[in-house]
Amino acid sequence: MQQLTDPFGRRIEYVRLSLTDRCDLRCFYCMPKGFNDFEAPEHWLSFDEIERVIGAFARLGTRRVRITGGEPLVRKGLPELAARLHALPGIDDLSLSTNAVQLARHAEALKAAGVQRLNVSLDTLDTTRFHEITGGGKLEKVIGGLMAAKATGFSPIKINMVVMKGVNDGDVEAMVDFCIEHGFTLRFIETMPMGDTGREANAHFLNLQTVRKRLEQRYELVPDVMPGGGPARYMRVIGTELRLGFITPLSQHFCETCNRVRLSVDGTLYLCLGQEHHFELRPLLRNGIDDDTLDNAIRQAITLKPERHEFNDKPGQVVRFMSMTGG
Ligand code: SAM
Ligand code: SF4
Repeated sequence: MQQLTDPFGRRIEYVRLSLTDRCDLRCFYCMPKGFNDFEAPEHWLSFDEIERVIGAFARLGTRRVRITGGEPLVRKGLPELAARLHALPGIDDLSLSTNAVQLARHAEALKAAGVQRLNVSLDTLDTTRFHEITGGGKLEKVIGGLMAAKATGFSPIKINMVVMKGVNDGDVEAMVDFCIEHGFTLRFIETMPMGDTGREANAHFLNLQTVRKRLEQRYELVPDVMPGGGPARYMRVIGTELRLGFITPLSQHFCETCNRVRLSVDGTLYLCLGQEHHFELRPLLRNGIDDDTLDNAIRQAITLKPERHEFNDKPGQVVRFMSMTGG
């Protein structure tokens, strides 16, 4: 079996696939208010083009794909694409990141298509605060989506909560109780200075070590592992089934174990979330590249992967915001 290894000896075996840069929410830390300068539809990779690229990655040893965005559920035909990716030889772990606003309608079709695992963004259980953080979102839709996903049998369901000082840090305990009640995994995320939105949100940056210490006053936490848990460091809450994940790109970066690249909706391969290094695949695909040349292009792209992000040292350098890359 072939494999992709970057210049720092890291095996690249995971692709995060952004299906769209559009979204039906406007989380203030992610997308600018009123933003509508989206990628033109003729630049979107078609499902055939996506299947070719992911097929090439699979030949080169990738077995995990996460579908993300923007909001992937706003792209028409997502279950059809998911089924096609799931059927690719070598891809044995297909997962989805969503805000769950439209999940209730699609949960069964996604499960049937082979999506195994779900990550759902949810920063608060307070209706008003949810509305404020997401620029007008309705919390009950997300809760409805989560309950539908649970009833459909997705497991695990991980909730991603960006914890922000003075915004939702007071909601952490309520989120813990909610996840214990429903059997969800809860992951806390530090804000990242991606684009102007992310940099503004960085004014609310909260080191997650503080959150862990606070939770230790109330719960007994022990270190744990979670298969496919990615960069999160996990703790189990004793006396419950709950696992808590801490994703700390700033306070404790995890670049030395990075195994992923990101494919954006227009066919740009981004080698690092926190750097601008990229490689354009769309022109090659539209010029009729053959499979061997495509595999070689991907190998060449991987040589551009930088050693680490510089969110702490150079917080001004990433111009694109999270929904453009596929967070
Ligand atoms: N729309 C989907 C969702 O919200 O889950 C998928 C895409 S979203 C860009 C992926 C993740 O990026 C979400 O968990 C979101 O909270 C996170 N995110 C967006 N901007 C961020 C920022 N500036 N810092 C940290 N996390 C961010
Ligand atoms: Fe949309 Fe997800 Fe960004 Fe929120 S975090 S604006 S749901 S893409």
